[in-house]
Amino acid sequence: MPDFSENEGSIFTKQGSLFPAVNERELPQVQPVLWERLARSEFRQQFHLNAQDRSYLATKGFEAVLEHGADFIGKRLAPAHPAKDGRQTPWQGHPVFVAQHATGTCCRSCLEKWHGFVKGLPLNGVQQAYVLAVIAAWLRQEQHRPAPKPGQNTKYARALGRKNKELAEKT
Ligand SMILES: [Zn+2]
Repeated sequence: MPDFSENEGSIFTKQGSLFPAVNERELPQVQPVLWERLARSEFRQQFHLNAQDRSYLATKGFEAVLEHGADFIGKRLAPAHPAKDGRQTPWQGHPVFVAQHATGTCCRSCLEKWHGFVKGLPLNGVQQAYVLAVIAAWLRQEQHRPAPKPGQNTKYARALGRKNKELAEKT
């Protein structure tokens, strides 16, 4: 993994604002092996942006959506003991939430399992930037997928079912 320490702090250029500006090009590289591992998870693979997520991304713009992502990471994942850990990321309602379930960046247990960030310790700036880089890369991949047809979200909706909650615990 490259050394990001010189970049620390520069990912977020508008310090102190609610949604600090994010420069996608300054985000760390995500290793291809992560995508290979995620591709083997039936649970993670079922998450895709639906039409509403896509139109939100198009309307708000990629950078604004990443700024929301930086805010979610800072508030809901970065503390050593986040509130409602394991349930802090809704299944839908924002493209970043979907990206988080797809990439194992939804809670501290998944972050530990998929990304090796030990639970019970706060995420530092480099780790937060890495999580955002994973989310950004996944959203870019989704933008290159063909748009879902109307009514094609039935498989995704099943993620809300109990069977998939069990799958989530296993994967
Ligand atoms: Zn999780």
